[in-house]
Order: sequence, then structure tokens, then C-alpha cells
Amino acid sequence: MKTHARVVVIGGGINGCSVLYHLAKLGWTDIVLVEKNELTSGSTWIAAGNVVQWAATRTNSRLHQYSIKLYQELEAETGQNTGWHTTGSLRLATTKDRFDEYRHILAKDHALGLECYLVSPDESKKLFPFMHTAGLVGAMYHVHDGHCDPVGTTNALAIGARQMGAEIYRFNRVTNLSRTPGEEWVVHTEKGDITCEVVVNAGGLWADRIAAMVGVYLPIIPMEHHHILFEDIPEIEALGRELISLRDPDVPFYLRRELGSLLVGPYEAKCKSWNAHNVPWDYAAADLPTDLERIQDYIIKLLDRVPILRDAGMKHIQNGPITYTPDSQQLLGPVYGVPNFYSMAGCNFGITQAGGVGKYLAEWIVDGEPSIDLSSLDPRRFGNWTSKQYTLAKVHEAYRLQYQLTIPDNERDAGRPLKTVPIYEMQKARGAVFGSRYGWERVNWFAPSGVEPADRYSFRRDTNYFKHVKKECLAARDNVAVYELSAFGKFEIHGTGATRFLDHLICGRLPGIGRSGYSLMLTPKGIIAEDMTITRLAEDRFYIVTPAAGEVLVLQHMELHLPGDGSVIIDNVTTRMGVLTVIGPKSRDLLTKITEADLSNEQHPYLSCRNIHIGVSPVRAIRMNFVGELGWELHHDLVYQRAIYQDILKAGQEFGLVNCGMRAVLNSMRLEKGFLMAADISEATPFQAGLDVFINFKKDNFIGRDALLKQKEQGMKNRLVMLEINAGDADAYSDECIWLKNEVVGRVTSGGWGHRIEKSLAFGFVRPELASPGTMLEVEILAERQQAVVVKSPCYDPENKKARA
Ligand SMILES: Cc1cc2nc3c(=O)[nH]c(=O)nc-3n(C[C@H](O)[C@H](O)[C@H](O)COP(=O)(O)OP(=O)(O)OC[C@H]3O[C@@H](n4cnc5c(N)ncnc54)[C@H](O)[C@@H]3O)c2cc1C
Repeated sequence: MKTHARVVVIGGGINGCSVLYHLAKLGWTDIVLVEKNELTSGSTWIAAGNVVQWAATRTNSRLHQYSIKLYQELEAETGQNTGWHTTGSLRLATTKDRFDEYRHILAKDHALGLECYLVSPDESKKLFPFMHTAGLVGAMYHVHDGHCDPVGTTNALAIGARQMGAEIYRFNRVTNLSRTPGEEWVVHTEKGDITCEVVVNAGGLWADRIAAMVGVYLPIIPMEHHHILFEDIPEIEALGRELISLRDPDVPFYLRRELGSLLVGPYEAKCKSWNAHNVPWDYAAADLPTDLERIQDYIIKLLDRVPILRDAGMKHIQNGPITYTPDSQQLLGPVYGVPNFYSMAGCNFGITQAGGVGKYLAEWIVDGEPSIDLSSLDPRRFGNWTSKQYTLAKVHEAYRLQYQLTIPDNERDAGRPLKTVPIYEMQKARGAVFGSRYGWERVNWFAPSGVEPADRYSFRRDTNYFKHVKKECLAARDNVAVYELSAFGKFEIHGTGATRFLDHLICGRLPGIGRSGYSLMLTPKGIIAEDMTITRLAEDRFYIVTPAAGEVLVLQHMELHLPGDGSVIIDNVTTRMGVLTVIGPKSRDLLTKITEADLSNEQHPYLSCRNIHIGVSPVRAIRMNFVGELGWELHHDLVYQRAIYQDILKAGQEFGLVNCGMRAVLNSMRLEKGFLMAADISEATPFQAGLDVFINFKKDNFIGRDALLKQKEQGMKNRLVMLEINAGDADAYSDECIWLKNEVVGRVTSGGWGHRIEKSLAFGFVRPELASPGTMLEVEILAERQQAVVVKSPCYDPENKKARA
């Protein structure tokens, strides 16, 4: 066994072997994998082996797409059979909303070039002849889905990695991890120590225990999952061809052919976790006790759909543990607070995703960043607020809702409320309907009295909140409104080195004292890592505000570049500071009633910051907002929040003040104003996102500068544009395909209905030559191509007269 290696991968399941293989492919061959038992002896050995292209997100679709390609090619490369079968798969819809979901997925998948179709009940039956079609609205058909042998595939990856020089040590448990004074890792194993630069935690069911060795908590808990193999069925045995696999998400179950029979896996609502946070080290490749009672109702429904199973006995039933995370997405990438320690854990579709995550994690390790946006999987989306109890509640929800509709705006309830602001109950009393972001309760909309404060979602504009959100937007446009957005990440950066430090991190200019501005931090490849507003409080004191989910990412990015001389101090004030924003043409009149400060353009111009009092409460008032109206963000110590809110409400009575939520702010008004969100800028440079004005090439040293200069020279592959869509009863909202005649030319990043201008809008990336205003394109919304035109952004108040009023 080696005593030194560049990378040690812990865990020889499909994930560990995949990252080992892909690291070797990228030329890092001084790498080893340590496995405590036989390869695949965690969750991998028992998996049903389904590999599907269907995914709710573009990121996951790309992972799945790559896995399928890889699993088909591996045998030729390694000589090891992966048991790959291309069968295609059908996903049934028994409700109108479910079929709308497929219409949306179709538009997303068209942008990715996947071969998929919507099919009628009759066509579904032709594809899967053993099915009753009663109650079926239709189905979605992905042509290239299939299944593999998880053990064979894992071994193929292991063989491929070995052929390129990687080494694998089986039956050797990692017992601990420590750091050398030279900042290397020491991986302590039963058979000796290995010193290395990078550790990958691919420990599957034990990944949280491995993380605990380095003092961090990974929110992962195994859930029990059954699958059943039926006795051989003559009709299936007689089939001279592959059989398409089947999923009914409204029951829910999956089903595929296994030799002469069918293999079925249900997702029961009364689900059960297994050894939360304490999976025994000696567990290996063993069935868990089965519990037929828990899943029998699902089997009965399955028999109605696939009657040939009625006469087939059960050959065997198996129960195995699958890891789940609070939002059911895996934890892939660097772990905050632990240098060169990567998580590759918490996946519940690990066979489907392993190829893709192995490839992109290897890029992350070797190149410093992956080539696609992996933020939805980044472990740093969870913070220190993610406790074991929270995780337990959320993983049960995640398993139970595995096949839940991926409908826009959807919120989940378990583990809430977690972080609440002092005015939470006051908001509730006013009809607030909350959502949750990064553990914070945030108001999405306010139900007027007499309206039930609960969401009824839809893929179309017929939600129960559409008209109430409209009223909130119109109040902001015509009168005055207030919204609360304390969930922002917030930092104060100070010290003699603060200016130089931030100047290096951002690509634009730092604001002058008392001024605020929008800024971008880039990766070395020039990709936007985070966007934020920076306010300069004093010569060497700055206040940074980031999107809620960016808190840990920005913090880690800053800490990574912190000078070692103590000249810069980062103070994370996220949970200490709150934000209330008053917007609208009457916002100045309202605030003037409750402050002695002069809010005139002369004394408090647009994009300036003043320390004022609202009533008796001290407030940092920043004249900017995310909706493009005259308005002030009032940043305050949370202890003053009730008093400030009460003052605003009281003074607001005279002006007809309206409370407003995030659906008005983020899904409607910010689009009209052309402000970007994370989805619009991920994977983009400032040039591609149209944010050129926030780059300052006069600075000779900022992260990403060289890459931007190169792109300036070479040109870019796409550009973000604003589209005005002649939409029907539904708007684009994410990832829809953009067409020019019959050619795919781009994809939507975010979209929605602009209530103030009564237009359907979307941001999207298109080829640069199609980015000029006036270009006619089509956006595929719910399976219909709608006419769209590229327009100049912002669509609302393009001269910014309102915000500067
Ligand atoms: C019944 C069932 C059906 C499933 N069906 C499907 C399916 O059809 N499609 C799909 O995509 N997914 C499916 N899954 C999920 C899939 O099996 C998992 O997501 C995947 O196998 C996880 O792989 P992994 O490599 O991350 O973890 P694991 O397979 O758990 O591997 C982790 C490895 O780490 C090793 N290890 C842990 N700690 C240490 C240590 N300290 N030192 C050394 N080694 C260590 C373990 O021994 C283990 O081999 C199913 C799961 C179950 C249980």
C-alpha cells in the first residue's frame, strides 16, 4: 500500500469508483481508493440499476445524460460488462398537473438535445403492452433510458481507473483523518497511514461518520427502500425484445424487466430511516428486514396498472438503505471549513448520477471549478443551522415526496419554521404565506382577509395567489409597499487591508464612502462566482449583502483569499441584521413621517447609504431595491425590527401601504427591471450576462481578469437576453428551450409575468448573433412554441427615473 498519494478516495461504491476513474482520465494517476469491505458493499450492490434521463433540474439531466453515455462505452474500454440495457422509459401521468409537468420537462430536455416525447394513453400501451390505461392522461417517453448492473458498472469504473494507474485497497477501513503541520491530510487506515493533498468522502451510508472525523456535519440519513422481484411471467419470458421501463409517480412506483420477470420499487409515504447518524461500521452488503405491510397498498395499485402481475408470486423482496439529504439532492463538492476535503455523498439516485458526478467532481478537484453549474448539489447550500433533528424531519419528507410534482414555487413543510425574524407573527397575522430559503422563513405573498393563507400551485397562471401578487406589484408601482428580506447573507469587512482585499476579489470598482453598488466576484476562469451589493461605510469598512443561499459560498471565497497578517476582519452579521424595504412613489413621504433624516435626492441620493433613525430605532438606510421603484432598504439590528415595522405600518395607513412578498419581488418586479438572479448568471462570465459595466479593466489585478481578456478576444458562445413572450396561459420559468425555426438556439434561465407592465418575460441565453433587440425567436412553454422577441432590458422604467425620483 502507498504511504503517499495525491488523492485518497474513501469508499468503493459506484461514486468513489467513478471519481477515481475520472481523476485518472484527467491525468491525475497518483490516486488511491480505500474501501473497508468489498467494492459495492454499501448501497450499490442492492440497487435496481435504473438509469433515467428524467430529472427535474437541468443540472441533474446533464449528469444523467453523461452517465448513460459512459455506461454504454465502459465495457469496450475496460473489458468489464456493465449489464447495460437500453429500454427507454415511460412515466405515466394521471392528472392534468402531472402532464403539465412533463410538458415543462419536455421543453427543458429539448434544450439539452434529449430524445423524448409526450405520448397518449394508447401510444403508452403500445410501448408497454401489459398496462391498463384507465385514468391515464398521457405519459412521457425518454428513448435512451435503461438499466445497468450496478456491481458490473462499479467494477468497470474500478478496472478503468486501475488501468490508468490508480490503486484500490479493499478490506481496509479508514479509521480517522488528521492534518500535518504542512497542511496535508493523513488518512489513517487499518493497514497504515496515507498522506495526501486531497480527500474525497464517498463513504455512502457512512459519509456523515467520516465527515465527523474532521469535525463537520453532513446532513445525510439512510432511508429504507424495498424492491420486489416477481416470479417469472410467461408473457415477459416470451418477449423477444427489451421491455420499456415504467414509472407511475402518482402511486408511486418504478418497474422494469429483470430477465423473465418484473422488478418493482415503491416509495411509501410511511417511510422509515435506518440507523440515523450511526450506521455500524461492520454493515456490508446485507438485506434489511422487510416490511411488506408498509408497501402493500402500493403493490395493490400496481396490480391494477399491470394486471399480469396478479398471477405472479413474489420471487424475492429486498430492503436496502439509500442515503437521503434534506432536499434529496446529493452533497457534491468542497466542504466549508475543511480545506481539500470534498463530499461526494447523500445521493439517492447514485447509479444514475455516478457517471456525471464523478466527471464533474474530478474537474472541480483538478481544475478548481467544474464546467457546469453544480450549485444545487453544493454541500455549502446547508449551513450550521442544519441539525440532526432537522435532517431527520426533512429526509422522511424527501423520501415520501420523491415523486412529488416539480411544480413552480413549490414549498415543503418539514423542519419549519427554523429561522424566523422578530416580526414573523405580525406578518402571519397579516395573512403571510411563507416559504423557506436557507432555513429562513420568507413571506411569498400575503393572503388578504377572507382568503386562505395557503398555496395552490399550477404550471399556469391560475394559481390562487396570482391576483394577490398582482395587487402587491401594483401597490409598489402606484403607491407604497413594504417587504422583509432579512435572509440575505450579510458581512462587514474592515481593517487596514480591507480595500485592497476586496478590490482584488471583485471585478469592478469599489463604491466611495457612503455609496453602494452592485459587484461581482469571479472564479479564475472568469465565471461569476457570486453577485452582491457592497456599501462603503468608511474608508476601510464595507458592508456586503449577498443572496441568502450565497452566505457560506461568499464567506468561504473571502476566507480563502484573506491575507495572513490580520489586516482584514470578516464579520458575518447575517443572523444579527435584518432588512425591511419600503418601495413605491410614496415611500419617501411615508418614511419622512417616521424619520427626522432628510431623504431628498440632495441629501440621500440613489445608491447612497445613511445612518438614520426610524422612530427610535437606528437604521442603515440604503437607497436601492430589487424592484426599480423609489425606495430604501432599511438594514437594522434585528432587536429593532418590531419597532421599525410597527412604525412603518402605522405611518403607512395614511398612504395605503401594502405588505408584499417574494413572488411579487423576485418572480415579477425584478424581471421587469432586468435584475439577475443566481440562475441567470451561473456558468456565465460578466460579458455573457451583459454585466460588462461592472468590470474595471483599469485594475491590473483581480481574480478572473486574464480569462475575461481572453474571452474579449475570442468571443463568447452565448449571451443573456431579455425576451418578451407572446405567451398563452403560462409563462416560462426555468430551463425552457428557445427555438429559431426548428433549431435549438438557447434556453431560458428565469421567467414570469410582469404585473406592472402586463407582459410575459424571460431571461435566456442565446447565440450572440441572436442577441440584438428585435430578433424574433420562439420559447417552448408547456409543449407549445410561443413567439418571443428579444427586447432591451429593463422593460420597466428603462431610464431608471422612478428609482432616482
Ligand atoms: C433498494 C435500492 C434500490 C436502488 N435502486 C436504484 C436505482 O435503480 N437507480 C439509482 O440510480 N440508484 C438506486 N439506488 C441508490 C443507489 O444504490 C445509491 O445512491 C448508490 O449506490 C450510492 O453509491 P455510493 O458509492 O455513494 O455509496 P455506497 O454504495 O454506500 O458506497 C460507499 C462505500 O464506502 C465504503 N466505506 C464507508 N466508510 C468507509 C471507511 N471508513 N473506510 C473505507 N471504506 C468505507 C463502504 O463500505 C461502501 O462500499 C438504490 C438503492 C437501494 C438501497
